[in-house]
Amino acid sequence: MSGTDYKFEGWLGHDPESVKGNMKWGEFEPKKWSEDDVDIKVSHCGICGSDLHMLKSGWGETPYPCCVGHEIVGKAVKVGSNIKHVKVGDRVGVGAQSNSCGKCEDCKNGEENHCLNVTNTYGDKYKDGSGKSYGGYATYARHPGRFVFNIPDGLDSADAAPMLCGGVTVYSPLKNYGCGPGKKVGIVGVGGLGHFGVLFAKALGADEVVGISRKASKKDEVLKLGADRYIATDDDKDWAQDNRRTLDLIVCTVSSGKMPLEGYVGMLKTRGTLIQVGAPDGGELPNINAFTLIGNGVKVGGSAIGPPHEINEMLKLAADQKIHPWVQKRPMKEANAAIVDMDAGKARYRYVLCNDE
Ligand code: NAP
Ligand code: ZN
Ligand code: ZN
Repeated sequence: MSGTDYKFEGWLGHDPESVKGNMKWGEFEPKKWSEDDVDIKVSHCGICGSDLHMLKSGWGETPYPCCVGHEIVGKAVKVGSNIKHVKVGDRVGVGAQSNSCGKCEDCKNGEENHCLNVTNTYGDKYKDGSGKSYGGYATYARHPGRFVFNIPDGLDSADAAPMLCGGVTVYSPLKNYGCGPGKKVGIVGVGGLGHFGVLFAKALGADEVVGISRKASKKDEVLKLGADRYIATDDDKDWAQDNRRTLDLIVCTVSSGKMPLEGYVGMLKTRGTLIQVGAPDGGELPNINAFTLIGNGVKVGGSAIGPPHEINEMLKLAADQKIHPWVQKRPMKEANAAIVDMDAGKARYRYVLCNDE
């Protein structure tokens, strides 16, 4: 089917019920091969919050069957002749983006993640008609080489995999909005993305990093991750008032339309910035009163994953500084149980599915 001697098989969601642990193992037809592509024998794939949104059609009707997973690491087994930075046998990875147009202003400016013609790693179509995209809860993955990254030797595959989406999604706004010496930075929602937020904000040299989540029960872990302070918005009475005007930058990973956004914005110092990366079902955020923005003199923005050059830069930083995310490995065959646990908020802080050697 795929013109190779290996089969593309994976966990397929067939309907919104799949998110409840009802993905079915089956074969899929990857995009039509081109000499711009790389085939990867998947060894590891992280479970991202986005996988759950897509399985349940939370962002609009998902084009089932859908094999999710966009934190992929494995071995290159076939490399198109136009791809020069990867050779067969290399350890490589793919994040949440499979392709972009390569021609627009964003692509030319190294902001491929904001190209209007992106192809997401799963549940999407290649704009040249070469087929559907499929993710990494699978045996093999095929993606354009432009979005296939070399994994530095110093990084473990299970550590590198979740960086390719979860890591860069927070690394990029931290980098682009000035996280560094002299800055106080808040990370809201210490889950998969948020734990990377704490690790990378520290690695970038912020003066103070504050972890902000709902329950006091995460406090010890978040401090152990490296945060200087922890705020529990469900349990610390008066948290909003007590922390008013204390932070220069906030990255918010929460994906609920019911989060206390006004309270978060109120923690910004004058001219501070809050960048939203959590993506609620239906996209809805709580209202922000105009006077909250005007009175505080602040900005609220958003950010999508990160472009290839920032992914390479982040992987190098992680290897150089020996950054170790907190990952929990699960066998690929347990993918259904793992997504149910992920949905229940049990991951500490990222599940990584592993194929047998
Ligand atoms: P995750 O591991 O589940 O983490 C999300 C965290 O948000 C949870 O750990 C939870 O921490 C916190 N939270 C606060 N209020 C919540 C509420 N009402 N309901 C649920 N969680 C709440 O998920 P993730 O993988 O980090 O992904 C987070 C979001 O980012 C998802 O929406 C995902 O789709 C999105 N995302 C966006 C991009 C992008 O490019 N912008 C890229 C990747 C992922 P506590 O329980 O401690 O409060
Ligand atoms: Zn993701
Ligand atoms: Zn483009």
